[in-house]
Amino acid sequence: MFSPLAFGLQMGLTTALPMPAALIALDHHPQFELDRYTRQIEQDGGWWLEMENRLLVVAPPSRLPDLLAGERVVADLGWIRPDDLALQTRACGVDEGPALPSIADTGRFALVRTPATLLPYKAPDVSEWRPVVPNRVLTKDLRARGLLAMAKGAPDPEVQLRVDAIDTQRWFDTLSTLASYDRSSYGSGIDQARDWLIGEFSALGLQVSTQTFTIGGTATQVENVIARRTGSLYPDEWVIVGGHYDSRQQSINDPNQSPGAEDNASGCAGVVEAARVFSQFPPQRTMVFVCFAGEEQGLYGGSAYAQSLEAGGDLAKVDLAVIMDMIGYSGDADLDVLLETSSSLSGVFPAFAAAAATYAPELRVLTDTIACCSDHMPFINRGVPSLLTIENDYSPSMPFGYQHYHRTTDVPANLTRAQEMGGGILKMNIAVLADAGGFETPVLRDGFE
Ligand SMILES: [Zn+2]
Repeated sequence: MFSPLAFGLQMGLTTALPMPAALIALDHHPQFELDRYTRQIEQDGGWWLEMENRLLVVAPPSRLPDLLAGERVVADLGWIRPDDLALQTRACGVDEGPALPSIADTGRFALVRTPATLLPYKAPDVSEWRPVVPNRVLTKDLRARGLLAMAKGAPDPEVQLRVDAIDTQRWFDTLSTLASYDRSSYGSGIDQARDWLIGEFSALGLQVSTQTFTIGGTATQVENVIARRTGSLYPDEWVIVGGHYDSRQQSINDPNQSPGAEDNASGCAGVVEAARVFSQFPPQRTMVFVCFAGEEQGLYGGSAYAQSLEAGGDLAKVDLAVIMDMIGYSGDADLDVLLETSSSLSGVFPAFAAAAATYAPELRVLTDTIACCSDHMPFINRGVPSLLTIENDYSPSMPFGYQHYHRTTDVPANLTRAQEMGGGILKMNIAVLADAGGFETPVLRDGFE
């Protein structure tokens, strides 16, 4: 009989010991090969971490050479234990510590040597640090693992119609309009941006409301803008599309302009573009388009909205919440997008992988299940199927990363490949939303079944 206690002891005893470690390149490992390889590492008494196209391999000295035979080793890390390593979140709006030299950059995290200030190792109760747990996928590159090719299907003509209705120039113009307002929570332009959004959603015939809340610890009041279209067939099943419209400087009290073109005029403009598409093609389920405020100080807008759904008994109606935060920049030709939710909600990934493979094949899709730092969190924390979509060059500490993050220079002109990157993410998201929102098939429309 399986004994969890004995198993746990065995795992704990072996993986807690220092062992030699190496970082290898995963360029040519399809998923089935990688599964076989990581199983072998565990059988040999070692442990591993998967980070995009890098695999950390830690194993007893007698086993490591065999495990590394034929692999491309990119770094020899010496002897390590899990506690010697930590994950540092990158470009988190809440608490940005100085970036440490990273062993591997992956998704929302950098794998670093545990800083002395954290020793003896404890994951403090802040979002910046996470412990390393052995045998975990931190970020998976679906394309490199062959999983996008497997997810690709035949385009559905009805979904294709909605995808084709995306106008990336119109989205970029919206982004530029939003970026022309200083949308810092303490700035003068956030109210103007709010009013502009209200006007835009109203012109689409949506029911528009605002939700006022206070940014924690201050007297500052800001407002979410909420636009809804009631579903034609299933009004009590909701799909939420959201992204924050507030912006900030690196120092939260910096009085300089915060144009926030990438963070997050890009995502908020994506919400507006989705509203335009689904006004042309009304869905069967209720769609709610929300531009959140107060994100940068600690997700206050997303939390206020999720709380109001809970209080109103509406939370269980939400089938899916899709959040866009930083979707309009790519530092290189690689159009990589990161999908992020918690491991317990990772059932949302296949629909997005299939949508990307089928309707936006230009995207390299990465998934990660250690969620933090954007408006998906209040939904994740309440168990609502939800995820964040974010381009994967957003962090200034990454190769090709966005150097204008939280600076006065986060302006539309600095968004290289904006329409390719944002357009790809919008195609993927609109395809998923088309399915989630529901539509009549032409066959049904004609009455033949
Ligand atoms: Zn943001």
